[in-house]
Order: sequence, then structure tokens, then C-alpha cells
Amino acid sequence: SVRVRFAPSPTGFVHIGSLRTALYNYLLAKKHGGQYILRIEDTDQSRYVEGAIENLLESMEWAGVHHDEGITIENGILKEEGDYGPYVQSDRLAIYQEYIQKLLVKGDAYHCFCSKERLDEVREKQKTSGLTAKYDGHCRNLTEDEIQQKIEAGETYVIRLKLPENRDIAFNDAIRGKVVVNTDEVDDQVLIKSDGFPTYHFAVVVDDYLMKITHVIRGEEWLPSTPKHAYLYEVIGWKAPEFVHLPNILNTEKKKLSKRQGDVSVEDFKKKGYLPEALVNYIALIGWSPEENQEVFSMKELEEKFSLDRVSKSGGVFDVNKLNWMNNHYIKEAPIERIADLAIPYLIEAGYVTETEAKEKYDWLKDMVELVREKLSYMQEILQHVDIFFHQEVKLQDEEAQEILKLDHIHDLVDIFYNKISVEENLDITNIKKIFKEIQKEKGIKGPNLFKPIRVILTGKVHGPDLPLIIQLLGRQNSLYRIQYVKE
Ligand code: GLU
Repeated sequence: SVRVRFAPSPTGFVHIGSLRTALYNYLLAKKHGGQYILRIEDTDQSRYVEGAIENLLESMEWAGVHHDEGITIENGILKEEGDYGPYVQSDRLAIYQEYIQKLLVKGDAYHCFCSKERLDEVREKQKTSGLTAKYDGHCRNLTEDEIQQKIEAGETYVIRLKLPENRDIAFNDAIRGKVVVNTDEVDDQVLIKSDGFPTYHFAVVVDDYLMKITHVIRGEEWLPSTPKHAYLYEVIGWKAPEFVHLPNILNTEKKKLSKRQGDVSVEDFKKKGYLPEALVNYIALIGWSPEENQEVFSMKELEEKFSLDRVSKSGGVFDVNKLNWMNNHYIKEAPIERIADLAIPYLIEAGYVTETEAKEKYDWLKDMVELVREKLSYMQEILQHVDIFFHQEVKLQDEEAQEILKLDHIHDLVDIFYNKISVEENLDITNIKKIFKEIQKEKGIKGPNLFKPIRVILTGKVHGPDLPLIIQLLGRQNSLYRIQYVKE
């Protein structure tokens, strides 16, 4: 059966490229009734960021990419789930030791005592003579005695992979086809570092094999490392999994999407109020295309329709406008209670309401959110659409608004509107529409001459959502206050 894994290093935020990698792994597992495993690759202890694992688990949970095996954190305690653990690499050091010993005994790996200074020197020389920088093999042929002496003398060492000279290594990539690399182009990769930890390259092979991974689906930045991995499988005598290297996610300038260009992490999008199903839906389509022309997919549909053979070879472009369109679609479709609940934290943070008010005025808030939700690309934008309900003093938005209030009939209009609202017992939509009709009849003011000034008086803006609804939400007191303000 299909067994796939997402194997992030806990180095901070979750890039949307990582979310996509996780998602494609997850989808392949679901489609084939297999297992999706979450493994933490923390062998580079210097890159560890406090809280990164918690953050990762939270982001995946939020996105709905749930793993079948791996780790969870409950009440601050890390728990393992599955039969192939430990799922955190730093808990697997003894396992790597076992396999490195085998490689040493067979002569497929060797101790290297070269100092950093020496390695730098070699690299420098190679560079100035135009050669590709790689380890020069200085320690490849030390004798058993020499090695023992150096270890006893307390010299630090790493353990390297011993690649044969001038040999082609071939492997198949599900997206790119056959890849062939000559060992002369490849470094004798460090497998165990001087601190006793394995490197990523060694740990990934051992773990993918022991965890019975069938497909290694990961970003294309790992493609150049795969020959080393393929060779390791070969010398240990293991069958290699399928390799699937996903093209990068690019920005609109066709460069790799990076933090400097704005939002790239799952956390960024969550904070702005993107719905997880919108982000997942959009991300799924960067680099994978469905058979039909469909664009909106639920997770269930993605699980059914996803297939590796429709993953493209070239990088997909991340287009925030498209994401916004998609998110707007999900915001419009979701139950209003959910959208209101998502909106409230932004309103509280902006100081529009307190937590208590939000509870007391929940139904009113819900109607307000309903009024504007079709305008939102993401929830945070709600602030600019509902500010009109929370500021007593109306600020005229622009010159057009100012000009409208200079029209000849404004005085008349303001007077009659004020009076009618004052005496209207029940200021609901029906009655507000009735008032508009009466003004038309009695004063002959109609159409834009009627609606535009009233909108400007009440909101300061020339355009906006449905006017009767705005008035109903504002209520009598607020409306009168604002009209009074213009009258003076
Ligand atoms: N730990 C690697 C990363 O952070 C995983 C690469 C792989 O999937 O093999 O991207």
C-alpha cells in the first residue's frame, strides 16, 4: 500500500510550498487508502527554532492535512502515534549508528579527520582553478591503525560516503523521468557529523526505508541530493522508493517565492483571515491540474481526483489575486455564523467592540457581517468596510463625497429625512424604503439625487452596501446623530 511522508525540519514558519508538499503527500495517501506520515527532521540542531514543532502541528491541523502516523502534542507533551517510530529523528540516533557501522565495515563509508581550515583551502584552490568544489578524498584510504590512532588522540571526525569513481548513478523521478549523474560530479557526502548526529542525507534514507515509505514526494531543491540517496540505497542493499520532485512555487516574476515578497507562510494567511479550505484548494492547483475545468474543490474531492501524473514539470505561479478570488468564494458560501465568528476577533482587535459587546450584540454583528462579506478577499479587510458602524463622526472619504453635500437640494433632503426618521417607530428595511418613497413623492427628489447624499451623510462614502440595510443596522439614534451633524 502507499506510504508517504512529510518530513519538515523545525526551523520556523511553514512556507506555503511546504504546505503543498504535505498536501500532495496526504492526497496521494488518501486516494489509495494508504498512510501519510509526519516525521520531524531535526538533525541539524543549530537550526532548531523554539516552538517550531508546535507551530507546524497547529498549521497542519488548521489546514486539515491530518497525519496517520507521527507526532502530536497534547498539553505540552509530545506523543507518538504509529508502529514505525520514533518519528523525531533526534530520537533515532542509535538506529543511524547501527547502519553507519555496517557501511564502515563494508568499506562504503570512511572516517574523515580533515579540519575545516583544510577543507576551506581545498575548496578555494578548486574554485580558483575553475573546478567544481568537492572533497578531495584526502582521508579515503587511511588504514585501520591510522584511524585508531587519530581517534585515541582525540581528533574529531566525520563519516563520509565512499562513492566509486566515475560511475553513473541512475534513478527515476516520477515527474522528470530518468535522471543520471556521474559520481565524479558528486561529493563524498558526510553521513555522520562530528557531533555524532546524522546528516539529513543519511537519516532520510534510513528512515524512509525503515518506515516503509513507497513514494518520496518533496520539493525540487532536493533533486541534486537524490543521486547520493539512490547510491546509499544501492550499497545498503535496499529497494529505493519512487522519487517525486515537485516544481517550485514561483512569484509573478517567475522567481522562487520568498519571504521578502510578502506573505508566504501558512501563518501569514491564517492571520489575515483566509479560510483554510480556500488556501488548500488554491495551493492544490499550483502545480497540479485536474482533468476537467473545475476550480473549486473540497478536500474530499481533491482526495478523489488527485494524481501524480497531472503534476506539472515546470514551476507554478502563485497569484494572490486568484487566491483572493477563491477565498472570497468560500467566504460567501460559508454559514454566516462561521464568518461572523471569524470576523469578531478583528473587530475586537481594532477596538470596534469589546468581547462582552461582541456577545451581547452578536445578532447585530452577524447582520453587519452578512452585509459586507461578499466584498471580502480575506477577513481582515472587514475593518475597512464596517468602520462606518463604529465611528460616531463621519469622515468624508473624498472630494466626490464633499461635492455631493454641496448640491442645492441637500438642505431640503436633510430636513425631511431627519423628521421622518425621528417619528418612525420601527426603523426596519420596509419602513426605510417607505420613507424613501415618501420623500420622492413629497419633494420630487429621487434616484441618485436621493440615495447618494444620504449614503454620504450616513457613511462618508459614495459607494457601499445596500443603503436601507445600512440604516437599519445603524439604528435611529446613530442615523439622527449623523444627519444632525450635517445640518449644523
Ligand atoms: N527535512 C527536509 C526539509 O525540511 C525534507 C526533505 C525531504 O522530504 O526529503 O525540507
